[in-house]
Amino acid sequence: MSGPTPHTHPSPDVAVIGAGIVGASCAWHLAARGLSVTVLEREQAPALGSTGRSAAGVRVQFTTRTNIEWSMHSLPVYRDFRQRHGFEVGYRNIGYLLLVPPERWESHLASVALQRSLGAPVEVLSPEDALRYVPLATEGLAGATYGPWDGVIDPHMATHAWVAMSRDAGVDYHFGRTVTALEPAGGGWRVQCGAEALSCGFVVNAGGAWSGEIARLAGLRVPVRPKRIQIFLSGPIADDRIYPLTIDLGTGVYLRSEGDRILFGLDTHADDGFTEGVDWAWLEEVLVTGVERYPWWEELGVDRRGSWWGYYGVTPDNSPVIGRNPGALSWIDACGFSGHGIMHAPATGLTVSDMIADGRATTLDADAFRHERFQNAGSEVGEAGAEVETNIF
Ligand SMILES: Cc1cc2nc3c(=O)[nH]c(=O)nc-3n(C[C@H](O)[C@H](O)[C@H](O)COP(=O)(O)OP(=O)(O)OC[C@H]3O[C@@H](n4cnc5c(N)ncnc54)[C@H](O)[C@@H]3O)c2cc1C
Repeated sequence: MSGPTPHTHPSPDVAVIGAGIVGASCAWHLAARGLSVTVLEREQAPALGSTGRSAAGVRVQFTTRTNIEWSMHSLPVYRDFRQRHGFEVGYRNIGYLLLVPPERWESHLASVALQRSLGAPVEVLSPEDALRYVPLATEGLAGATYGPWDGVIDPHMATHAWVAMSRDAGVDYHFGRTVTALEPAGGGWRVQCGAEALSCGFVVNAGGAWSGEIARLAGLRVPVRPKRIQIFLSGPIADDRIYPLTIDLGTGVYLRSEGDRILFGLDTHADDGFTEGVDWAWLEEVLVTGVERYPWWEELGVDRRGSWWGYYGVTPDNSPVIGRNPGALSWIDACGFSGHGIMHAPATGLTVSDMIADGRATTLDADAFRHERFQNAGSEVGEAGAEVETNIF
């Protein structure tokens, strides 16, 4: 590609679009397989899309075998990152605490059994046991579960670590490059960024919430759309315990410690599209819903300047699409992660590199994330028998 950024690969094997945590993980894993890689990012630095706006949570507490296995691969990668690669990524096992209403208790325990059968440590608690972690009203709870490996990482640090590692492995990063056109060329792709162009063998679409739009540039369909998510920050609170990422499965209200404050939120199903900014009317809804479980929220101050918003990239079943696009041979999508793209970035990078280097997912099972699940019998939410994740937060 012409332009001011020095580069070593005028025609790389792979062009990765997007330098969020997924694009950076893909770039490093691809380079580790000996492939030449160029990353194109429209912002001036990595992690300025959804990656920089997340709640940073990582967990094993999923309901499908594939998601649990992907967490069991990814969590140790974050936990041991410094020993393996020499970079700190901020992993802290502050835990995830899930508060479970009676109508979900039986199926929740079945998920815990699956998690444990796959080696994931999860503790089953009574509602009263949950008080060890967070002050709350226990009415209407059948029980709770706690994941001692679960917690948070620093998504900026992880992304920058993979960028540095992949640069060392020869990957070119081009910032300030918006991909504006894509067309098939010689079995691969010609990728246009304004007046500049690049030829490559494969495209990896790691464009987050913008992946659907990126695919449309190539005449392809990727069922990923943006959904605005808002996170509110409290003022300082008196309790000096560190609250785990606590989710009330009955209402969807969540919180966790952030320094001497808490961050908290509740997703709205009506927030589709590239809507920008914090909706302060929604804050009232969150507080009114949450105060039932957390009576201390009556006194909760809110730091309006510290609150923020960002986009989930979502699919019809809230699980990602990872794999070859049915409309093109040399195009791999890695997008649509809803609220767990930070969590599964290590497994995604590995799987995308397998798909390109080996022609298929050779290490982890990625069948549940294939495009084709949306194409059978006109089904919007997965074909019969496909596993559908229900712990989507
Ligand atoms: C409020 C909030 C809370 C969240 N909490 C969690 C959590 O606790 N745990 C978790 O695992 N996940 C969480 N997520 C989800 C997580 O942030 C995402 O799944 C993850 O960041 C996706 O990473 P990505 O690299 O695919 O996307 P992004 O980080 O969005 O990267 C995509 C990149 O593509 C670039 N791009 C777009 N279009 C173009 C173009 N045409 N040309 C060039 N570049 C382009 C963008 O600039 C962007 O940098 C949360 C998200 C939000 C918004």
